Amino acid sequence: MEETLRITDDCIGCGQCVKVCIRGHLAVGEDKKVHEIESPYYCFRCGHCASVCPKGAISLLSADERIDPVDGMPVSAESLAQLYRQRRSQRWFDRKCTKDELERLLATVRYAPTAENSQAVEYAVIDEKYPEFMRLLADILRTHTDEHARLKQFVDYVDSGMEGKNNPFTWEGRQIVIAFARFPIDAIIPMEQLDLMAYSMGLGGFHSRWMLLAAEHDQKKFMSFFPEISKDLNAYAVYIIGHPRVKYRRTVARDERRILWK
Ligand code: SF4
Ligand code: SF4
Repeated sequence: MEETLRITDDCIGCGQCVKVCIRGHLAVGEDKKVHEIESPYYCFRCGHCASVCPKGAISLLSADERIDPVDGMPVSAESLAQLYRQRRSQRWFDRKCTKDELERLLATVRYAPTAENSQAVEYAVIDEKYPEFMRLLADILRTHTDEHARLKQFVDYVDSGMEGKNNPFTWEGRQIVIAFARFPIDAIIPMEQLDLMAYSMGLGGFHSRWMLLAAEHDQKKFMSFFPEISKDLNAYAVYIIGHPRVKYRRTVARDERRILWK
């Protein structure tokens, strides 16, 4: 059995890690210490055991980053609810993000959950190659312009040399973040976290349905722009980002959502 955990002599055999392991990978032995054991499922490095241990006696072998104690909630429910309420899509920008800002955002969203804790999510930031990428999207979508007026508007915009600030797909945005994953949800969760984090940093942006449509219509051609991305991943979330030029001053009413209780 390949060991995935580091267990130190500080272990007091309390068994709290055993209880939270959904893989049945841990057991307290006669020596009153916890051990990794053979189980029907492999340890998927979720880290629940390390997070719950009162003695800090267990950790992921592969982890080399600093581990911090968790002490209460970092943000109140009221603050979070207010953030959700006042966050708005931003399409008008006065300047691009710096590489430091983008790196900070992408470093933060790597804590987003993934299916089976695969952590198989990769990102591309399109900046200098923005014009080339627009031309690729137009090539994919030019046979689909009858599906929606916006697609024809975009293809015409690209074919006419991309003049004018308002690109029908990116508006004034000229930087694009794309998330590649095994499943859509693995890309969508971190991208929305990125959106909220960006807002909290005074940045802004919006999720692009239209660019994703190009990936859906011709994933192979879309992925040909990203030969460095792992072959088993696909593009499932696209976000345009920048420094907002428009200031939103109040929240906006939303429809109630139907909720079915059964
Ligand atoms: S939670 Fe920590 S102290 Fe308790 S059994 Fe597991 S490793 Fe040992
Ligand atoms: S990392 Fe997760 S799956 Fe692995 S032993 Fe700890 S709790 Fe179990």
